Parts: sequence; structure tokens; C-alpha cells
Amino acid sequence: MSKSTASPTSGICYLVGAGPGDPGLLTIKGKECIEAADVLVYDYLCNPELLRHAKPGTQRMYVGKKAKDHTLTQDQINELIVKLTREGKVVTRLKGGDPVLFGRGAEEAAELAEAGVAFEIVPGITSAIAGPAYAGIPVTHRDHASQLTIFTGHEDPTKEETSLDYAKLAKADGTKVFLMGVERMEEITGKFIENGADPATPMALVRWATHGRQQTLIGTLGDMAEKVKAAGFKAPAVAVVGDVVKERKNINWFENRPLFGKRIVVTRTRQQIGQVSKLLRNLGADVIELPTIRIEEPQNPMLFGELVQDCHTYEWIVFTSPNAVDAFFTLFYKLYNDARSIGGVRIACVGPGTAERVKAQHLAVDLMPEKNFVAEGLVQAFKDFQNMENVNVLWVRGEETREVIANELTGLGAIVDEAIAYRTVPEKEDNLEGISRLVSEGADVITFTSASTVDSFFALQVPLPTGIQIASMGPVTSEAIRRHGLKVDIEARSSTIPSLVDAVLKALVQ
Ligand code: SAH
Repeated sequence: MSKSTASPTSGICYLVGAGPGDPGLLTIKGKECIEAADVLVYDYLCNPELLRHAKPGTQRMYVGKKAKDHTLTQDQINELIVKLTREGKVVTRLKGGDPVLFGRGAEEAAELAEAGVAFEIVPGITSAIAGPAYAGIPVTHRDHASQLTIFTGHEDPTKEETSLDYAKLAKADGTKVFLMGVERMEEITGKFIENGADPATPMALVRWATHGRQQTLIGTLGDMAEKVKAAGFKAPAVAVVGDVVKERKNINWFENRPLFGKRIVVTRTRQQIGQVSKLLRNLGADVIELPTIRIEEPQNPMLFGELVQDCHTYEWIVFTSPNAVDAFFTLFYKLYNDARSIGGVRIACVGPGTAERVKAQHLAVDLMPEKNFVAEGLVQAFKDFQNMENVNVLWVRGEETREVIANELTGLGAIVDEAIAYRTVPEKEDNLEGISRLVSEGADVITFTSASTVDSFFALQVPLPTGIQIASMGPVTSEAIRRHGLKVDIEARSSTIPSLVDAVLKALVQ
């Protein structure tokens, strides 16, 4: 995104609504602001998964209440965003839900305005409306409510007296939604009833709404305070009061999906994790993203460059991972401007995930195993396809990949050159949130999609919760799991992501 209100040399601060949690509930403009950011300033209710839209090297500053080392006061946050914007940076200030609904976005905007720096407000989807919707509760409904009142259950603690008029609130028609009210449930519902509201009015609390870990508590104005205590129900939650709550029995879509309530850990690179988590989330799972590896340049990028440059001189290019395809074509298009420079070379892929990346380049895949999507399967496919005597092959691979392709194809008489496209290194920074959730909340399943994710997960020395089931992408990954002395509970039938997700679904939903 261009710095629309600023000159190209001066900074701008975007006050962006990050939505209520589901990473899909971010606006297009919000995403563009994250992509454009030099610095991201975010807090507790803002889903850290959104940070993946940031370009590499973007500075991230967590200023939320749950920060371990230091908590910034609102004044310090104001000062910080003004200072960064004055330095000429694109500052994206992410706030949960909508930035100006009980988000102090207006105060931050006023500071920026007073400092004379450029800023924009980018509205977001508020938990006040999205939270109930994800619990199957519409905030208005033609049969029940034509009016909506939103109020806060927790005013500025420095205020001496409440500015909320409970007599009016209790008598107001329609639906009432309140935020930040869990701790004061008894007081708030009590005041409603004192002021004439019917204790039998239906009521719901939706905790961590739109996240996979969403929990809903249903009751009435009269019994909700008790239920909160009995269930140990905690913030953050949206409260909704009114007859609209009755609609939940018909349209409770989010919590009725097959994997709802199941917590599943996904280990992969940050870039690739999204593909797996999306499929699991669509089935309702609570996904913990725990990237364990990162893709980096190979040790010898020059050599890789030379082999890519000569790729058209081979009869076959063999790809054994999606990462290899991506690294290959990124470099290929730096060297050549023309897709035809690849020449008449034929392309072989180990499985559908890798083939998909090749097809994304508008190139056809000439050979792939029919079902055994591992190196051995590809070697067999070559055997069935042609005599490999003296055939020139360029194998594009990761540094740690098993040697099967080179050994076996050479054994068949082929001449194999190996282009090492990337290496995987353990991820050390981007997984702290995931690790802390796994340790504190446990999980039903952990998924592994390659041997390197297995090894790097165990290198982290995070204890696995008892009873967790281990799911593997296929035989090679399973072998790595067993090497660490563990049993594989779930294995994909064919080594693909959809097949892995399918196997997890079958294992969890009998
Ligand atoms: N600006 C935010 C609200 C900030 S006030 C918005 O528009 O959503 C913080 C309160 O919002 C929390 O105490 C809680 O009541 C509510 N909240 C925010 N995100 C929530 C979520 N995912 N689930 C439930 N409540 C949420």
C-alpha cells in the first residue's frame, strides 16, 4: 500500500482493526497495512497469526497486557507510535476487533493528530457482533430485536462513578451486548434485574470468540453469574442478552463442525503452515501453529545458481519438495525473463503437493508416482516409464533430503546432478506463542509433515502432553517419529496434506 496521506519520505501510522481472532476476519485494507509495515505494534487480543502477512524484516513490538517483561502504559504506547511515525516509518498499530470500539483507538488517533503526523483509521470486525454470530446468535433479528445496545462492563477504573445508566439500559428494547464484563457479571446482571429486567431473559457468553478455542455459556440474566462461577469461565468474552440467543439452536454453525473442540498442533515452516491449518480450521479444529523449521539459502548458492542456469541442458528435472520448486523458480526467473528458457526438459515430481507448485508456474508435470508419494515411489515410476541408461537428470533438493533419488537413479544408469536449493534450520523465535499454548493447554493431536519437522520439534525439547496422538504425513515421516522412540497413531494414506487431514478427521470423529 502506498503511504496515501503522507509524502514518500514521511511516516504514517495505520490504526488497524485486527478483527476478533479468526485470521480470515481481517479486512483487505488491514492486510495491506500489515504488508506495508516497517513496524507492527500489536497487543493481547490481536491474533499473532496475522503477523505472517508482514514482509521479512518487519519489526514487531508487542505492547499487550500479557507481556512478560514490561507492560507499556497507554501514554507510553501513544509516545511510541508518535515517535516511530516521526522517524519516517510505516507503523501499523493492530488492535483487536475494531480500533475505535472500546479500543482506545480514538485516543491514539488524537495523539497522532496533535503530533502532526499522518495516520489513518482502518475499521475492523468487532467481537461485539462477530462473537455472537460465531455462536449462532445474530445481534438483530426481525422476530426478536430491531435495536442493539453495546456497552462496556469495565469502565476506566479511574472514573469515580459509572456513567452507565442501568435503569435506561435495563428498559432499552432489543439486544444488549457488553464487552469486558466477565469479572463483574454478578454486579451487571444484578443491576439489570434491580432495574426491572426479566431474570428469564436469555443470555450467552462467548469466550475467545471466532478462535478455534471458542467456548459458549448459555443461561439467563438471572443465573449467568452463578454459571460463570461454576464453570470458572474467564475473560475475554462477549456477553449478549436478549431473545436473539434463542436462534442459536437453529444456526449454531461454528461449534457444530466435526473437529470443533479438538486442539491440533501443526508443525512446519511459517510459510507452509497455513495450508494445513486452514484445512483443519475449516473442519472446526482449534489449531496451534508451531513452526519448527525455517527455510534458508543453501550453503553454496553459487553452485545452485549455475545448475539452475544450465537446467535446459538436462532431460529431466526432478523435484522432491514444494520448497525445492519455489526456490528453483525464484532463481530461474532472476536469471531468465522467459519461461521458454527452460527448454524441452521434462519434469518429475514426488507427489501432488510438489506438482501443484510446478503447475502454479504453468508447467506440466510429466511424471509422478501413482500413489506412493516418496522418493522410492518416484524411482519406481521412472523404472516403469523408461530405460534410464545415460539419461541426464537434475535433481532439485533440500540439503537434508535422503539420498534415495541420486543413489537409485544412478544405479539405473542415469547421470544425476544435484542442485541443493535450500536448507532447513530450526525455528527459534517464531514459535514461542505456540509452545506456550501447547504446554499450558495440551492438545489432542500433533501433526508432522516431514522428517525434518520431526527432528526439529524434538530438538526444541518441548514435552508432549500425555495422551496426545501423533499424526504423520507418510512412511518417511513415521520412521523419523519412531527413531525418537514414539508410536505413530495416525498416518496419511497417501503422503499429501489433504490425506493427512482426512486421516486426522477419521481418527478423531468416529
Ligand atoms: N475493540 C475490540 C474490543 C476491545 S475491549 C473489539 O471491537 O472487539 C476488549 C474486550 O473485547 C474483551 O474483554 C472482550 O470482552 C472483547 N473481545 C475481544 N475479542 C474477543 C474475542 N475473540 N472473544 C470474546 N471477546 C472478545
